[in-house]
Amino acid sequence: MRKVIIAGNWKMFKTRAETLEFLQGFLPQLDTTPDDRDIVLCAPFTDLGTLSRNLHGSRIQIGAQNVHWAESGAFTGEISALMLVEVGVRYVVIGHSERRQFFGETDETVNLRLKAAQKAGLIPILCVGESKQQRDAGETEAIIFKQLEHDLIDVDQEHLIIAYEPIWAIGTGDTCASAEANRVIGLIRSKLSNPDMTIQYGGSVKPDNINEIMAQSEIDGALVGGASLDPQDFAKLVNYK
Ligand code: PGA
Repeated sequence: MRKVIIAGNWKMFKTRAETLEFLQGFLPQLDTTPDDRDIVLCAPFTDLGTLSRNLHGSRIQIGAQNVHWAESGAFTGEISALMLVEVGVRYVVIGHSERRQFFGETDETVNLRLKAAQKAGLIPILCVGESKQQRDAGETEAIIFKQLEHDLIDVDQEHLIIAYEPIWAIGTGDTCASAEANRVIGLIRSKLSNPDMTIQYGGSVKPDNINEIMAQSEIDGALVGGASLDPQDFAKLVNYK
């Protein structure tokens, strides 16, 4: 059985006060959430301790949004996997398109981060996906296969999640048609040595499209940006039918 995971990616949103306010609105709505899905919140580094202290004993797991590949060292501004583990982090987003686009992330650094995260016992959520230009040029499969080929060198596929996030669908309201997301995710699965890997879809997932997305045979969850910031919206997502 493939595990279903609904994960929020808060990006650079929420102060500590806003995090507490979110939990106050969100937690009471989990009483009727079915057991067949896991819930993860991937928060800014400065919110991780707050989440950890306030989610003790809850079914929500904590994720970070990046991790460095060295165990320690002279890397000003970076955070190691062990530091994340110590504050109660279980998951970490790696290779998000915003990091590839704005912070010089390459398939090589993604691969290093994946291996370092796994070595410390974290479960990476590896993001792959094509741009609008690449899709229009018919390069979707080639781009994703190249990312997988390079990113997954020597990576343990038993302790890994992949999120298919078409870049043109992120934060645009322009969701990838669920049948098309299903098709691409099926192709991704065909390239993996672990066919039971959880593969999420990400890109403008909202309360009004989650049911259709989750009804697809290859899609095992969602990585949600904008709609994870509002406790009512995120509750609707984790409580999908
Ligand atoms: P979005 O972001 O849900 O706001 O489109 C998804 C993501 O970037 O992970």
